Amino acid sequence: MKICVMPGDGIGREIVAQALRVLDKVGAKFGKKFETEEALIGGCAIDATGVPLPDETVRLCKASDAVLLGAVGGPKWDTIDPSIRPERGLLGIRKELGLFANLRPASLFPELQHACFLRPDIVAKGIDLLVVRELTGGAYFGTPKGIEVRDGERVGFNNMIYSEHEIRRIAKVGFEAARKRRGQLCSVDKANVLDVSRLWREVVIEVSKDFPDVDLSHMYVDNAAMQLVRDPSQFDVIVTENLFGDILSDEASVITGSIGMLPSASVGAGKPGLFEPIHGSAPDIAGQNKANPLATILSVAMLLRYTSDDMADEAAAIEAAVQKTLAQGYRTGDIREDGCKLVGCVEMADAVLANL
Ligand code: NAD
Repeated sequence: MKICVMPGDGIGREIVAQALRVLDKVGAKFGKKFETEEALIGGCAIDATGVPLPDETVRLCKASDAVLLGAVGGPKWDTIDPSIRPERGLLGIRKELGLFANLRPASLFPELQHACFLRPDIVAKGIDLLVVRELTGGAYFGTPKGIEVRDGERVGFNNMIYSEHEIRRIAKVGFEAARKRRGQLCSVDKANVLDVSRLWREVVIEVSKDFPDVDLSHMYVDNAAMQLVRDPSQFDVIVTENLFGDILSDEASVITGSIGMLPSASVGAGKPGLFEPIHGSAPDIAGQNKANPLATILSVAMLLRYTSDDMADEAAAIEAAVQKTLAQGYRTGDIREDGCKLVGCVEMADAVLANL
């Protein structure tokens, strides 16, 4: 498997270095060969080439089976021309790779229950869900859009628009993800009010005919927002459109309480997908060996699971090693608790490697 590695800025280089040690070890353990090549993105790319997404980076990504990203951005580039801000690199590569689906698991390791924002009796039932968010359509990209003066006052408008093929392909990603998990898919919409949601629901039901092994349910978005805090254990995979997914995926991850623990994937029709932790470049702790590398290590597990059909064991081995490391009491500063073994970024990865 050929992997393009983009450490990016801030803590990016530290966490990616540790994730690559884990990848190497998995390769050795399972007899798999991973070829990695590094590319520039974000602030470091601006410093080296003047742009956040050099052509060479796009070329390397497209020639790979998967892309692993650390994080981009930092105060150094906050005041530069917005058209070449580090985040532009991220938007640019998502577009270049045609990544229309964002997969964000929100799972709570039992060892980190204390960090969860929900009541203990709710947490006790467990949280292990995946939000599949449509990434390139809906109100964020729909036209017409704008602000104009009508009848003497300003009017602002956006258009939440989806065509059938856009719904069909994201629904498919949702069903396939559910198939790799517990076989339950909840499609979230607002079909009681929005026409676009009525079409969404119709098309999702059509796609479900190809997935008789997956249990499909539907939920209105306002109810889904409530159910996520009332009883997140009821969800396996949630599939939803861009705007609803933006909000629900953040809600789902924040309730777990540990931003340094959560991986994500963005995938398109073909290869490669982009795998990255959900957190940013954490400039406040960069270069101090304080960053939690587990979100990036778990991103490697997602990368293996979603890039290849036969690396589920490798992915599960990484996840099990992370869980064991937490059970042994190892914690970085962001997830510390009384009586834990407080360690740095490198030492946390050392423990995961030992457990692998
Ligand atoms: P952030 O996620 O970088 O940091 C928020 C807080 O969480 C900070 O206190 C940080 O120290 C902590 N934190 C984050 N990841 C951690 C980890 N792995 N281990 C321990 N602590 C961790 O968000 P921010 O401060 O809003 O943004 C900082 C920079 O990152 C900005 O330039 C922003 O644009 C960028 N950013 C990039 C991405 C991305 O690359 N995908 C995402 C979000 C923000």
